[in-house]
Amino acid sequence: MGFRPAVYTYATRHGLGGWVLNSSRGVEIEVSGPSDAINAFVSDLQNSPPSQAVIEHFEVSDLPDRDYEIFEIRDSADFAGEFIPVPSDLAICAECTHELFDPANRRYRYPFINCTHCGPRYSIIKAIPYDRPNTTMSSFTLCPDCAREYHDPTDRRFHAQPIACPVCGPKTWFQIGANRFAEEGNAIASAREFIQAGKIVAVKGLGGFHLFCDATNPQAVERLRARKHRNGKPLAVMGFNLATVGTYASLSEAEIKLLQSPAAPILLVDPTDLGKHILSSISPDQTRIGLMLAYTPLHMLLLEPAPGFPDLLVATSGNLSEEPICYTQEEAISRLSSIADGFLMHYRPIHHAIDDSLTQMLDLGKIQDYPIRRARGLSTLPLKVPDGPQVLGTGAELKSTFCLARQGRAFLSHHLGDLQNLETLQAYERAVIHDQSLYRIQPDLVSCDLHPDYLSTRFAQSYANSHDLPLVQVQHHHAHLAACITDNALDPEEPVIGLMYDGTGYGSDGTIWGGEVLLGSCLGFERAFHLQPVPQPGGDLAVREPARMALAYLLTAEYSVDDLEFTFPPLEFLGEGKVRVITAQIQEGFNTPLTSSMGRLFDAVSSLLGLYHTVSYEAQGAVALERLTNADVQDFYKINFNKGVINQVALIAQILKDLQQGLPLPLISTKFHNAIAQVSLACSLALRERHQINKVVISGGVWQNLYLLKRTWALLKTAGFVVHIHHQVPANDACIALGQVAVALAQSKR
Ligand SMILES: [Zn+2]
Ligand SMILES: [Zn+2]
Repeated sequence: MGFRPAVYTYATRHGLGGWVLNSSRGVEIEVSGPSDAINAFVSDLQNSPPSQAVIEHFEVSDLPDRDYEIFEIRDSADFAGEFIPVPSDLAICAECTHELFDPANRRYRYPFINCTHCGPRYSIIKAIPYDRPNTTMSSFTLCPDCAREYHDPTDRRFHAQPIACPVCGPKTWFQIGANRFAEEGNAIASAREFIQAGKIVAVKGLGGFHLFCDATNPQAVERLRARKHRNGKPLAVMGFNLATVGTYASLSEAEIKLLQSPAAPILLVDPTDLGKHILSSISPDQTRIGLMLAYTPLHMLLLEPAPGFPDLLVATSGNLSEEPICYTQEEAISRLSSIADGFLMHYRPIHHAIDDSLTQMLDLGKIQDYPIRRARGLSTLPLKVPDGPQVLGTGAELKSTFCLARQGRAFLSHHLGDLQNLETLQAYERAVIHDQSLYRIQPDLVSCDLHPDYLSTRFAQSYANSHDLPLVQVQHHHAHLAACITDNALDPEEPVIGLMYDGTGYGSDGTIWGGEVLLGSCLGFERAFHLQPVPQPGGDLAVREPARMALAYLLTAEYSVDDLEFTFPPLEFLGEGKVRVITAQIQEGFNTPLTSSMGRLFDAVSSLLGLYHTVSYEAQGAVALERLTNADVQDFYKINFNKGVINQVALIAQILKDLQQGLPLPLISTKFHNAIAQVSLACSLALRERHQINKVVISGGVWQNLYLLKRTWALLKTAGFVVHIHHQVPANDACIALGQVAVALAQSKR
């Protein structure tokens, strides 16, 4: 990130001799000269480091008998086994953008322009230290002009490892099927023509392939959705810059800053009236648009505004649903040919695939990040954990990540996806090996979920066996609690109240948990309150068919099948035959685990209200329910608890009564959300009274429901609680690996 050039500039400005080098211990500097000048140099460096730099630790000591004539930048030194930071992929900077569109510049319209402040990093690194021979750029020999810039400490491309130009760097081409159709400048023009004509183009980008099409053309979007088998799931869009996206989204200052940051994530933002038009085709259930700005020069050239060319393009990961993102040409051709009409390719190899990050800004008293997927630009940033043994946490199964920790830093991997998919599992195993070598972590300890069938648990067991390491199994919701404690840098040993609401987690008693109020720290926990367990007929099938959960709730609420009318939406959907089969299934307990899942409760209510009886992705019903909420409604359904069991089943009679009386669905949905917020408060109050604990942490996928989060937060705040939510890592299962590491570290200390 240009640290050594900054040191060079300051040292020569103050007339000092000496040297600077990157080592695997950090940046090391020796200087000689008058003490006034040295003091001024040190204060310059501490007070104005390069813009992307974060100084974690700064140490100064006196060395006798040094007298250097000149100041120089020396070669990197590697001390085997020592940790050095791994840089993130960075969005194109303002200066490179300017040069990209400057006809006088030698890199005018060159799609791989970059500098020490921007460009690929993590995705092209094969090994550390981060020097060109250790990246996928090693096969491109620098031309004399690039070599001069690379070696000149006063140049802004001094030691920019991916430095390239039209003479010596990678090039693009456009391909249809197996045939090369156009080269270089014409390649991007061809891709643009295809997109403008409503076709779908696969584009090799920074961390993998994206599928692009015209976001303002509903037929094109529909075609993409059908070919990708993505049904109702939202699609992200990309715009050239703020000016072109401004008509579609209304952006706050904080949102603009985040969109333009070097991490350049996809941000969920509110649409304008024009934006609402395209929303129905790109994100049918959502109220917000997933928006990003072109973050590489290639994407800028692809999206450059022109008459007749769309302002917004769909830019979704280049994969079939559930598969990992494609990152090699061969893979793209074999896996994406059924989706894409053409391919925009380039010669810079991607060593390690990485998806786009997805986040949102949340205003809870102060404006903060509330991430959903942590990947490109963010995943190499360490999270603080207590010092201890080196640990590998293998995470959950859906939205899987893993976490590696050493010397007080935890590295939560980027989002890898659903491990039940074979390609994803293979990508996960590759990523563990790759990150272990990048961060130089040889685990002393492995931690994983309690679920015996999670593929991440099996991976942890075989890893621990083959390396002869101890294995720590952590209950799923305890891991959520520990992740939120770590995310907020709370004392790992201080007990807190935890509202852990999600879809599925293996409980300590072997049943499925998910509506859990815990009392605990990273050391351990007590299951203080939980939803009343109800049957989940068909197991995972009930996740895809919320109507099954609606029926299970009806029966638990003591409605008998004979009393119910088969015109009632969930029953009408299932049909009388299936209703009777499922009822018998529940009575006999056949393939019907018990669950206290909050996610399944939302599914059931969404089906009772006639929203979704079957879903194409998890939480589709909950998303639709949230969409109906109205923040002006204060009314709520009454739920009590008795000896730690919350009687959420009491909701069913109240909801049915309101439905029969013809109350509007938004009112019913809001009363339901408010009921969950109220019972969360009631549980927290009871625990505060019993244990004098005033801190509440909130984690679990259900909390991606912002209405529920805001309402609960407000109630807890008013009651005087100190409330902590996630802000660096997602509240969903992507945080589990971090929680596993935090628990393993806390327990190993004891
Ligand atoms: Zn730059
Ligand atoms: Zn060159």
